[in-house]
Amino acid sequence: MDRSRICPAEQGMWRYASSLPLEKPEEKVSFGEGWTPLVREEWNGMNLFLKLDYACPTGSYKDRGMAYLVSRLRDQGISEVIEDSSGNAGASMAAYCARAGIRCRVFVPAYTSEGKCVQVASYGADLERVPGSREDTTRAAEKAAETVFYGSHNWSPWFAHGIKTFAFELWEQLGFTAPEAVLLPAGQGSLVLGCALAFEELLSSGEIETLPKIFALQPKNCAPLEEAFRKGSPSPERVEKRETIAEGISSAEPVRGRDVLAAVRKTGGAVLSFSDREIWDGFVKLARRGYFVEPTSAIVGAAAEMLSRDGSVGGKRPVAAVLTGSGLKGSGKILSLFSSPPED
Ligand SMILES: *Cc1c(COP(=O)(O)O)cnc(C)c1O
Repeated sequence: MDRSRICPAEQGMWRYASSLPLEKPEEKVSFGEGWTPLVREEWNGMNLFLKLDYACPTGSYKDRGMAYLVSRLRDQGISEVIEDSSGNAGASMAAYCARAGIRCRVFVPAYTSEGKCVQVASYGADLERVPGSREDTTRAAEKAAETVFYGSHNWSPWFAHGIKTFAFELWEQLGFTAPEAVLLPAGQGSLVLGCALAFEELLSSGEIETLPKIFALQPKNCAPLEEAFRKGSPSPERVEKRETIAEGISSAEPVRGRDVLAAVRKTGGAVLSFSDREIWDGFVKLARRGYFVEPTSAIVGAAAEMLSRDGSVGGKRPVAAVLTGSGLKGSGKILSLFSSPPED
């Protein structure tokens, strides 16, 4: 990507369509997602820019990846798909399939927020709630996918290419410069992979001179990438997963974990982990400034708190963070967290 290839006449993320090839570009499956606001905050002296991706059409950044993935599926004549998700990807897949006229079956863990389940079903997808862990949900979906196309966003290169548009927007909205660092929640690591793709493209076309440091953020209660990063290991560690308020990034077996770790290391960034208490504090701090995100997304508040106090990144240079999902889908859980906040 470079400046000359931007198409300002296109809506949302499609201004970068030249980096998202389609068979029939005029038939993309889109609700005009992307081109979300970038808002500056001063966070303990840190020059922090928040990317409001929870303002995407279904309430999460997943719409960027799904718009491109479902466009490609329709290009290929796929008429029915299976997806598994902790919630937001399923909701997004259901909406884009509704728009594309593709039948959709979404598998979610039984613990998924009610708001996300209602959203999936409202779009007309078949919703399957699977008891047990996020990994049990994947196994159930894979079994069903023996006979139907498995549209899994976590495996799809198209999904990652759609996600990369948030990083092109950061670059453009910061006046065609890269931030010093980017703070990203990471379960499977789609934001990390998308961010790496985008900044590599900008580096190779000469638009930027250095890659921003990527900080991938995981909940302490499920941190296979953080453990691997700390130990210097190339692939995710086996972890005993515990319950966390960051339900959207509770992935014990990230399928592209090796790529995620390599991408973070290449930029000189780090994988960090935070307790549920720190994530909750991050939620409250963000909400008091006017950002109502889901607890998963609030992990960037915890990271901003830590990094701004220890002074290891930023200085005066911009640090960017993505606010990934809307708090409106999880208001029931959020209400209960206000009355009994996590202890550690
Ligand atoms: C999907 C999701 C993420 C990131 O998920 P990955 O598994 O790392 O791709 C972050 N925040 C929210 C709200 C999500 O729904």
